[in-house]
Amino acid sequence: MEYEAVIGLEVHAQLKTRTKIFCACPTDFGAPPNTQVCPVCLGHPGALPVVNRHAVELGVRAGCAVGAAVHRRSHWARKNYFYPDLPKGYQITQLKHPLSEGGQIVVEHTGHRRRVGITRMHLEEDAGKSKHLEQEGEMRSLLDLNRCGVPLLEIVSEPDMRSPEEARAYLVELKQILEYCGVCDGDMEKGNLRCDANLSVRRKGSTEFGVRTEIKNLNSFRNLKQALAVEFKRHVDFVERGEPIIQATMLWDENAGKTRLMRSKEDAHDYRYFPEPDLPPLVLSEVWIAGVLRGLPELPDARRARYRKGFGIRPYDAVVLTATRELGDYFEIVASRVPDVQAAANFIGSALLGVLNERQIEITQSPIAPEALADILILRAQGTLSSTLAKRVLEEIIQTGKSADAIIREQGWEQVDDDGQLRQWAEGVIEAHPTHVEAYLGGKESLMGFFMGQIMQRSKGRAHPTKAQEVLLTILKQRKGEVT
Ligand code: ADP
Ligand code: MG
Ligand code: ZN
Repeated sequence: MEYEAVIGLEVHAQLKTRTKIFCACPTDFGAPPNTQVCPVCLGHPGALPVVNRHAVELGVRAGCAVGAAVHRRSHWARKNYFYPDLPKGYQITQLKHPLSEGGQIVVEHTGHRRRVGITRMHLEEDAGKSKHLEQEGEMRSLLDLNRCGVPLLEIVSEPDMRSPEEARAYLVELKQILEYCGVCDGDMEKGNLRCDANLSVRRKGSTEFGVRTEIKNLNSFRNLKQALAVEFKRHVDFVERGEPIIQATMLWDENAGKTRLMRSKEDAHDYRYFPEPDLPPLVLSEVWIAGVLRGLPELPDARRARYRKGFGIRPYDAVVLTATRELGDYFEIVASRVPDVQAAANFIGSALLGVLNERQIEITQSPIAPEALADILILRAQGTLSSTLAKRVLEEIIQTGKSADAIIREQGWEQVDDDGQLRQWAEGVIEAHPTHVEAYLGGKESLMGFFMGQIMQRSKGRAHPTKAQEVLLTILKQRKGEVT
């Protein structure tokens, strides 16, 4: 490939506050239309905004998490435009003096680590929503203004990404950081994390930037990656034909798999930005900012490194187990109780997450506590349970809520390593399959797997595998002695 993509993202994250950014209306998702509004968020004349302290704190937390310089003094601005779902006719945002500038996120993609610079983060309010639907046989456009004034943090990246996959990896990492810090719940289906993607192309090796287009409102990882891949190809085709790219804002048409022109690129002056007269500058003390910084949790990248180095688990498992802060916390409780941490990582990553995903249960709602899961792994390590039965015990605990011990006792699932019993099972298998035995004795040793499978069937998974195989080999050797 001769060309490379240059990508920068503007992400809008809904801050996890109970109330809106400039009024006390709730931010609850799914409320009936226009039930969470007041004169302030509807922009009635004379109503005055008051800044939500918690929204500011969450914004500062995000800045601290990426190592940004948080400004002690930032300013509010009005961005003016007409839109039916923006009754105020302007949006309060921050332009020249944003909440924070700088910082970076390290993105790992196909084993390669890249630093993606963060340009800035600023606070702003969301607009309402238009819905176009058919009612009483005619098309109607309806407005739901519940989202007006919902607090957003806009996070602008440097144009540091070089492929759609890398842009996706950046968004995954950013989402995780915001979730870890409790800044945003990252639910893209509810529109709590949305992204505008800017892309240009250039010849590989070139250091200059091409003309960019911006794809608006991408609301899933899949859409982000696909839209960028399609837009990249469109740019390359233009360049190859020698046609100039015109700077523009595009929309992603998911069904057609195409980007469409929405409007030619708007500029800051089109919005007639001016300082918000109803709000004083936002002034933060050094001590307060330092307190927010101290309160940050361990971030995903550091946690993954600790899991790899400290626990010695495989990099892949470290990624899986740090996907959410809660899953990592769960894993750490288990890890502190079991002899084999890698085995715990495997069991949680496949068996537990498998069962939870199947039932669409979050780890925080897990019907099995980490301590109980650790008990299963201890029984497994002691040889009381085979790996098949360990999984079944897990399923039983989830279904019945009983303890591992009780289930094993009731079901008679202890692993059996008693010679007499193993011998009985082995002899039963040998009696039942004389031709297989003959073939085995004639040199077809691969049949051992078949015999072991039969023993497992007879013992309902309870036979201790290595001991059972020993017993079986002894009997077969005896038979061989008798034959020759
Ligand atoms: P605007 O406010 O007009 O959207 P910004 O300067 O805020 O413009 O940039 C928006 C985004 O575009 C940033 O994420 C930035 O990294 C990205 N960007 C800027 N120039 C380019 C370019 N030539 N190619 C790709 N992305 C770019
Ligand atoms: Mg923009
Ligand atoms: Zn309100």
